[in-house]
Amino acid sequence: MDYQEAKARISELKKIIEESNRAYYVEDAPNITDFEYDELFRELNRIEAEYPELKTADSPTQKVGGKAAEGFKEVVHKYRLYSLDNSNNYDDLRKWYERVKKEYPKEDELSLVVELKIDGLSCALTYKNGELILGATRGNGIAGENITQNIKEIKSIPQKLSKQISIDVRGEVYMPVSSFERLNEENIERGIKEFANPRNAAAGSLRQLDSKITAQRDLHFFAYTALPEDKNIIKTHYEGMKLLEELGFETNPNYKLVKGIDEVIELCKYWETQRFNLNYATDGMVIKINEISKQNELGYTSRAPKWATAFKFPPEEVWTKLEDVELSVGKTGAVTPIAILTPVKLAGTVVKRASLHNFDEIQRLGINKGNEVLIKKAAEIIPKVIRKRENEDMGVYSMPDKCPSCGAELVKTDDEVALYCPNSLDCPAQIKGRIEYWASKEAMDIDGVGESIVEKLYEKGLINDFADLYKLTVDDFMTLDLIKEKSADNLYSAIQGTKNPTMTKFLTALSIKLIGKETAELIANEFPTLESIKNASIEDLIKIDGIGDKAAKSVVEFFNDENNKIILNKLEEYGVKPQGSAYEKTSNIFDGKTFVITGTLSQPRSVFEERIKKAGGKVSGSVSKKTSYVLAGENPGSKFDKASDLGVIILSENEFNLFFKE
Ligand code: NAD
Repeated sequence: MDYQEAKARISELKKIIEESNRAYYVEDAPNITDFEYDELFRELNRIEAEYPELKTADSPTQKVGGKAAEGFKEVVHKYRLYSLDNSNNYDDLRKWYERVKKEYPKEDELSLVVELKIDGLSCALTYKNGELILGATRGNGIAGENITQNIKEIKSIPQKLSKQISIDVRGEVYMPVSSFERLNEENIERGIKEFANPRNAAAGSLRQLDSKITAQRDLHFFAYTALPEDKNIIKTHYEGMKLLEELGFETNPNYKLVKGIDEVIELCKYWETQRFNLNYATDGMVIKINEISKQNELGYTSRAPKWATAFKFPPEEVWTKLEDVELSVGKTGAVTPIAILTPVKLAGTVVKRASLHNFDEIQRLGINKGNEVLIKKAAEIIPKVIRKRENEDMGVYSMPDKCPSCGAELVKTDDEVALYCPNSLDCPAQIKGRIEYWASKEAMDIDGVGESIVEKLYEKGLINDFADLYKLTVDDFMTLDLIKEKSADNLYSAIQGTKNPTMTKFLTALSIKLIGKETAELIANEFPTLESIKNASIEDLIKIDGIGDKAAKSVVEFFNDENNKIILNKLEEYGVKPQGSAYEKTSNIFDGKTFVITGTLSQPRSVFEERIKKAGGKVSGSVSKKTSYVLAGENPGSKFDKASDLGVIILSENEFNLFFKE
């Protein structure tokens, strides 16, 4: 790039970055992703490094982004707030450490603190003699917005400290991911624009001129810098964190004191994948030199400290093209659209497909083949499509009217968003789907019988429903491509070994519309024999806590259907007989008892559910008068309050464990 080209590109980059800064910091509504922004920012940095004479003081690389919005009083910060330099690769991280180490060649002297980089907005709090007197946003780092009233609405920010000291505190205000999703759902319902991410939701909620709105939003605060008036009370950043905790602040529990860059990188790698299990957004790691004396010696650039740096995770969101929409027909005939994308790297993997949920979602997104779409990876393994580029109108993908598998006219019932193929008897996709599901882990768990074997058996005309699996012989399997005697034997034995399932497994495996494993279990608990389920009426079924009208109707319709009767008879004929119990029970201490679980426990909920069920109890999703116990972990939700109102016994995890003590 020659001088003239560099000059033109710099001017172009500055313009895009300034415009993005305004959208991001002032309006809390970014128009490009953080990853794209960071790429542009790094490009500007690179060109300015090559042509230092083109670097001006007003360049975005020389200042902290952000500006006070109108309507707020401006406050000049007592201590400046900085941004952080960042890199997105370990080589650059090592280079940063090398630069620091040059100043301190004896490695032993240096220690580092590694923290999660919380994706919220930074705030400066001032306490005088233990009392909160001021809360401000970062703004341009020199002056920010006075948001004291709003800050007082955040419960995790103490208004009085445990000690009467004067201190400035820095930290991040954030919105938990679950609250962000709830807020966006409400916004969609009310026809208000959604927030692009939890960071923007937090910023938009905090920077409200009316603090009553802030009070309604679920905002939290993690403190990460202590600046006590009496500088002598802390010598290291780590001690500062401990002081903050002592004073009553919440700090993010995942900070760690380490030595050497290898340990830093190990932690970055760990959190790169583990971050998706957190209920708050984090976009990277922050690495800080621990000793405050060294921080002061290393100093600052006009924009960021030299004694700290950030490592940015690969993006969770990325733009790509929607090339096609594939229609998948499920076992109950529901047709789901799947986005086929131009392959793109996202959070470390190459993504080619994304979920679109249903056709209402396509309408809502207003997308069509050819659109650029933003896809996101969160806790789920399958990424989802978030939105299209604004102003890129390519029409909306039209709903299909024929089943892609059998050609039948599709139907849509008024009360459901899904589109269905009604041809359940003859639609190959549905038939194969039901057989695959019967054999799946969730249902009968037949080892080796998956999509490809089912496909081959069906194509050969050896099976037409799941009951047919039980009439297959070893020789039948050997007629299939690439199946030798040993695997044929194994497949045969695996199938024959599932002839005596629990009632829950059996009911689940039948692919009854709206009946998954959990509902199947609720039914099996009340109706442990096949005969009793066949004879149950809708009224009988809705008496079960957790079974609604639609599910009850679906069960009754299933057992009255002539074709299903044939399959059930065939199963009986081949010797498939459910055990007559919902669960493999190990004791009966909870016979007749119903539990509701809420809050965070020391192990996943499923562990507790299993213990309850094996002891004869039931687990329900909602608290009612019929509930015997509520098992409550940390931060219990509204179920806890309801249980208290209804006088239901609430057990802590320790109390629950007492039932199992010998
Ligand atoms: P930054 O977010 O990259 O890093 C600095 C900030 O990190 C601090 O101000 C602080 O708020 C925060 N932080 C979180 N956890 C921390 C911890 N444990 N210790 C210290 N600080 C912590 O820098 P920035 O200047 O706030 O913003 C620049 C970034 O914002 C860009 O890299 C980009 O990701 C995003 N941005 C995006 C757009 C867009 O249009 N998409 C526009 C502007 C900025």
